[in-house]
This record gives sequence, structure tokens and C-alpha cells, in this order.
Amino acid sequence: MEAYDAVVIGAGNGGLTAAAGLAQKGLKVLLLERHNIPGGCATSFCRGRFEFEVALHQLSGMGTTERPGPLRMLLASLGVLEDLTFVEMKDLFSVSMTDGFRLTLRADKDQVISELEQRFPHEKAAIHQFFDLVYAYANNMLAAFFFKDPAPSREKYPVLYSHAFKPASEVLDEIFTDPLLKGLLSVYWGYLGLPPNRLSFAYLAMLLFVYIEFKPFHIKGGSQALSNAILNRFLSNGGTARFNGGAKRIIVENGAVQGVVTDDGDRIQTEHVVSNASQITTYAQLMDRENIPDQVFTEMGGRSLSPSAFTLFVGFDCEPGELGITGSTNFLIDSFEFDDRIFSRMRSVDITDETMVLSCYDVADPDFSPAGACQANIVTLKYGEPWMRIPPARYHSVKFQCAESMLRRVEAIFPGVRTHIEELEAATPLTHMRYLGHPEGAIYGFEQYTKDSMFFQPGRYAPIEGLYFASGWIGDCGFQPTLNAGMSAAKSILKKLDAA
Ligand SMILES: Cc1cc2nc3c(=O)[nH]c(=O)nc-3n(C[C@H](O)[C@H](O)[C@H](O)COP(=O)(O)OP(=O)(O)OC[C@H]3O[C@@H](n4cnc5c(N)ncnc54)[C@H](O)[C@@H]3O)c2cc1C
Repeated sequence: MEAYDAVVIGAGNGGLTAAAGLAQKGLKVLLLERHNIPGGCATSFCRGRFEFEVALHQLSGMGTTERPGPLRMLLASLGVLEDLTFVEMKDLFSVSMTDGFRLTLRADKDQVISELEQRFPHEKAAIHQFFDLVYAYANNMLAAFFFKDPAPSREKYPVLYSHAFKPASEVLDEIFTDPLLKGLLSVYWGYLGLPPNRLSFAYLAMLLFVYIEFKPFHIKGGSQALSNAILNRFLSNGGTARFNGGAKRIIVENGAVQGVVTDDGDRIQTEHVVSNASQITTYAQLMDRENIPDQVFTEMGGRSLSPSAFTLFVGFDCEPGELGITGSTNFLIDSFEFDDRIFSRMRSVDITDETMVLSCYDVADPDFSPAGACQANIVTLKYGEPWMRIPPARYHSVKFQCAESMLRRVEAIFPGVRTHIEELEAATPLTHMRYLGHPEGAIYGFEQYTKDSMFFQPGRYAPIEGLYFASGWIGDCGFQPTLNAGMSAAKSILKKLDAA
């Protein structure tokens, strides 16, 4: 039987950094991935002359060379920074509404404030109050959590204690009166999966803070370049990776991990497993029920699955300017009724007035697509469950009806785009389910209700010796948090083995 110091199940962001972090310290590591390429969400695929980005719209936490953010430091510590070129997006985001409203916010605090002041002069004082609050909150949060204050208190971090558990909408309502302004300042809820009245202010504040302070980035070659770079570092440090074959079972004896059985039936001996698969998959499909304490299922039973997504990947035969696209990240909005109407639309299969985000990477990086062409990744959140009820014979027609509705919405904002389409592909919640293996194709793990948020992190530590999790299912979702989660898992194993 082959033996390894650790086996990592899944080569998404969390799995890759866990594997690379362990191999870097000389551990013998096996990485198992069901797909034929590394990355999970962080991948690309080709159609015609286009290589389409699957997931990454805006990378957070990078910062600049002069003022590095936590993600830049993490990638440097793994030795992959020099292998990659990061492209800074100058705009935070643009909002385009079907009624003709347009707004672009630059990724700079003073410019965000002055742009909003010009548009909403009646809310001038409130705009300052809001950003002061966001920054005070973020600074409290960084000092207490990021720098791990051993004795945090309400006196030391008053804004953290007073605002962490408040819904984002409550805070916006306390400060602003203009509903349009409240809507604009909460558009990032789409990156977290819960609308402002269900989302903790903590998340909205931190997202605004990290994107403004550390700037939104993209990667030359897309997120696949990042996944490839981490994999290559892992391999060059002696790691072993197997694709097209995952883990079928985690062997547990006497409450401790003893090995893994691969999809091919190979038995691998190891005392450490890092699972980048969802906790549901790990416990319900990869392990025998008698090895799992009841508490695990009780805890998981109280949580709900995040939405999946419907995405359109469009290759255009012209440059973004010809389509009227001038921003990298464009929120297309019909209605600001995020808390009720738009949230409930996420449970319907069809597409009407959903909020969408259209990313055109070529705006910041003119070489992203072939010369004279550009691409857009247009996504809207959709729960997976209604898609699972579509009879297989109807799946393709439903998928293309949704693609058609989505395109109509895009055309209403960027007239004439249809005449420039060269390639078109659509991904549904079922596509995410197939490629990620996550229940109902959930792309943000469990929903981040306050009770399940970063402050409590239920289920983060597996009650089975030698089992670790590293993914968007154990904490926050997104590139930065999941890359970080992999490193944390690696560090826990290294600490246990005294190999840090
Ligand atoms: C459409 C979309 C847009 C997004 N936009 C952004 C964005 O702009 N910014 C941002 O920060 N984040 C964004 N995200 C979120 C981000 O991509 C994810 O949070 C992150 O990539 C998840 O990483 P992960 O480590 O949890 O692994 P995942 O990407 O979920 O990958 C898990 C991997 O495990 C593998 N696997 C599962 N079971 C097994 C098994 N039994 N054996 C072997 N392998 C297995 C799967 O094949 C997969 O490769 C987006 C996601 C999507 C889908």
C-alpha cells in the first residue's frame, strides 16, 4: 500500500494551497482531483479562439507591491508570486440600470465619496458617516481577528461589538434615506449570496474595505493561471497529483484517519486528510456513518445551502468600447428590491429582473482575449434545487431560454451586443454541481447567516483525528478566504507534526 504524510482531496483553491503548503515543508503529499484540471471554480475552458474565465470577477486582498495585502503575502510565501501577473482594476464597480442610470465608482476611498456626494448631495453627511463606520469597523476587525488580539473587549473594539451582528440593511437604514444610494452601496451582497437584510454588516463592510484598500485585481491568463502556478509549485516541491480520479472513501479507525480509497480502488495509507470537498460530501459520501459523531449531522442540519449560479460566457468579435462596455465589473440592475423580490427570484429557474454582474476582463487587460476581440462573463445567483427538478429532456431548452433572457437584459443596457457574438456558452447550477461535486451546485458553501458566520464557524474543526477541511464550506467564501483556508489547514498539520 502506498503511504503519504497527507492526502488532499480536491484541487480547488483550498486544496491547492493546503497541498503546496505541506509539500513546501518537505511532507510527502498526494493531491486527488476528480476533474482533469486543477482549480475547482478557479479554472477556465476554451470555446473557439476564447479561453473563458469560469469564476473570478474581482480578486480581493492583493494590494500593490508597495502596499501588499494579505493575499499577496500568502502567494509570496508559497513562491508563486513571480510566476503570475496581476492586473489591477481601477474601478470598484459600475452600476447600469435599464432605465438609463449609470454610475462608476473608482477603487479609491476619496473618489468613491466624492462621486457619491456629487450624485447624492442631500446625503453628503451620511456618506461620510457611512465610510467612517466601514473603516472603523474594518480596523476593529483587523486588530481583533487578523492580528489575533488575545483579549478583545467591547471597550477596545466598540464598533466591532456594536455592528458585527447587525444586518447590513439595518445599518444602511440608520444612516441613509435615499433608497437608490442604499441599493448602490449594497450591490456587493451578490458576492456573498445573502441580500442586505439577511447579510451581516460585517461582511458588507469588510468587502467594501478590502476592495477599496487592496484594490480589485484580475490575473493574466485568468484564475486558471493561479491554479496552475500553485500546482506547479506543489509538483516541483515533490508533491504527487492525480487528476480524473478522486477520493471515494476516507478510512477511519478508532476515531482517527488511517487512509483513503481512490475512485480507482487504490488504498492509500495516511494519517492526515485535507478535504476540499464540501463537508456534506465528505461526511455523507466519503465516510462511514458509524465513524461520525451525531453532533456533526445535528450541526449541518441547522445550516442551509448557498445559491449556485447561472452564467453566460460570451466571446465578442470586437473590443469592449464598440459594445459600450467601459467598466471591468458591471452590475446590471432592474430593481433594488434585493431583500424580497430579487432574493425570491433566486429560487426561480427563469430570468426576468435579476441582478447580474457582467465582467469584461479586456477593459483592464486588453490582451485577455485574442486581438480585436473581448469576452464577458455574466452571472446571476440561482439556487440549485429548482434546477434539479427539471426533467432531463427539458434541460437544454430551459438552459437556452435562460441564456436568451439574460442576453435580452444585457442588450437593453448595451444595445447591439448580439450582433457581435462569436462564441456563447452557458453554465447552470447543474454545471456547477457536476464540476465541483457540491450539493445543489452551491458556490458559496453554506449560507453565511450571522449564526453561521466567521464569528462562530461551526464545523470548522472535524471531530475525527487527522481530518481537516479547507474550502469555502468551513468559513468565508471567495478566492482570498479559500486560499487562506488551505494554508491554515497545512499549518495545523505542520504544527501537529512539529514541522512548521
Ligand atoms: C460563478 C462564480 C463567480 C465567482 N466570483 C468570485 C469573485 O469574483 N471573487 C472571489 O473571491 N470569489 C468568487 N467566487 C467564489 C470562489 O470562486 C470560490 O469561493 C472558491 O474558488 C472556492 O474554492 P474551494 O477551495 O472551496 O474549492 P472549489 O472551487 O469548490 O473546488 C472543490 C474541488 O474539489 C474537487 N472534489 C470534490 N469532491 C472530490 C473528491 N471526492 N475527490 C477529488 N476531488 C473532489 C472538485 O472537483 C473541485 O475541483 C465565484 C464563484 C463562482 C462559481
